[in-house]
Amino acid sequence: MASRISHWIDGAAVAGTSGRAGPVFNPATGVQTGEVDFASAAEVDLAVASATAAAAQWRESSLSRRAAILFAFRELLHEHATELAEVLTSEHGKVLSDAKGEVARGLENAEFAAGVPNLLKGSFSEQVSGGVDVYSIRQPVGVVAGITPFNFPAMVPLWMCTTAIACGNAFILKPSEKDPSAALFLAKLWQEAGLPDGVFTVVNGDREAVDAILAHPGIAAVSFVGSTPVARHIYETGTRHGKRVQALGGAKNHMIVLPDADVEMAADAAVSAAYGSAGERCMAISVVVTVGDVGDAVVDAIAARLPKLRIGVGTDPDAEMGPLITREHRDTVASYVDAGISEGATVVADGRKADLPEDGFFLGVSLLDHVTPQMSVYTDEIFGPVLCVVRAQTYAEAVELVNHNEYGNGTAIFTRDGGAARQFEFDVQAGMVGINVPIPVPVAYYSFGGWKASLFGDTHMYGPDGVHFYTRTKVVTSRWPDPATSTVDLGFPQTR
Ligand code: NAD
Repeated sequence: MASRISHWIDGAAVAGTSGRAGPVFNPATGVQTGEVDFASAAEVDLAVASATAAAAQWRESSLSRRAAILFAFRELLHEHATELAEVLTSEHGKVLSDAKGEVARGLENAEFAAGVPNLLKGSFSEQVSGGVDVYSIRQPVGVVAGITPFNFPAMVPLWMCTTAIACGNAFILKPSEKDPSAALFLAKLWQEAGLPDGVFTVVNGDREAVDAILAHPGIAAVSFVGSTPVARHIYETGTRHGKRVQALGGAKNHMIVLPDADVEMAADAAVSAAYGSAGERCMAISVVVTVGDVGDAVVDAIAARLPKLRIGVGTDPDAEMGPLITREHRDTVASYVDAGISEGATVVADGRKADLPEDGFFLGVSLLDHVTPQMSVYTDEIFGPVLCVVRAQTYAEAVELVNHNEYGNGTAIFTRDGGAARQFEFDVQAGMVGINVPIPVPVAYYSFGGWKASLFGDTHMYGPDGVHFYTRTKVVTSRWPDPATSTVDLGFPQTR
């Protein structure tokens, strides 16, 4: 029987009242396992009222209390990592080892945010004028919302909520309706860690809930991660309503292989980064660009690895790649192989012909060679296990491809030439760059974000940029009364 997945408001599970709900599947079996309530604008209103009251209290909590709760939350996440990973596997489909990796990366954000006493330090300038000091302080923005994608149901919410809460805000999460249970799992851990009710809230839903969040005057800031068209909508609508918005979008990440690269290492990296999590990562490599005469060797080395990949149910310890998120998405991804064929690409591996588990939303891995920038397999974000190879003659041609691409999330170069790698780092227009590292997701004490259509807004997510996004700076100019020097002076204040 499908379980009911509700909201989490004021420290308790709250059943939806809108009468609208959506199905949640186990992608490995194709069976519906849950039904998630979809919030109406009135339910979003309730959530904001609870969060607003909680935010007023929470901003008064001492930095040491916040750090203590963050430490406790981090310990609970660590303790329950396998259980949470199992929740991820059951609704997202990714294999358990990958789900554990997701939890581990999310946990790093809790570790970073536990350093909040240090992160919120302001600055102080003594004696800017006679007896006058100036200092800056960082204050929370109030109630903030996070709207997250299906592909990282724990890590992306953790990117946002750990820092937002540490900075003294109340956080409302609207997770993906495709795999919402991880959000409720996190809610219970926050409560067990001692976070006051209302500081972490979950409203489930679809566009209706999102639009209510974007228009709500009680929400000061919105963090979004998802596809580019929705990111653009979130950014434009949220900012029109006077909110701070950071909206991370889609990607088409290129990996350039120079002629001097270690071909075996490059092939290992390409296969891992293209097909891990069935290609449903915003940092997945979806295009390999070979430079000069290395193309055949790279394609052969990638192709040689594909028959050995083990595709299966995520809970099978031998499986390396699980199913896709939904039947519709699997079919869309599969249709790109035909698109590639009709546009003139060479099909080296066709995932539709793979030997796959009978049930569920599985698709094998595809490799398309001789792809050109005009083909839809190149221009579209496929978000599945389809890797394209584009052949470039020169380094300049390869970099031009990356720089002309609509997206600018991650990119990588494989080479043994330090000078070439440094030049690439200088030239390339993307937010995250790997040098012989195919998935350069920054550690928690840097910040994550792309360029171009991969990010709308001017702050990246988590790390120092996260602290910046979730706080407002106030600068105080102060003088203590000294009756001996006090006079009337109508001139403009000067620093002498
Ligand atoms: P999505 O854009 O369909 O959904 C993301 C969120 O927006 C969900 O919570 C969803 O309910 C909501 N949403 C969907 N359509 C909406 C609409 N029309 N109006 C308002 N809200 C809407 O994305 P997805 O399919 O869940 O996730 C995959 C996408 O996310 C890919 O494009 C991937 O590249 C991107 N992604 C980007 C990053 C990054 O850091 N840049 C990270 C992870 C995923």
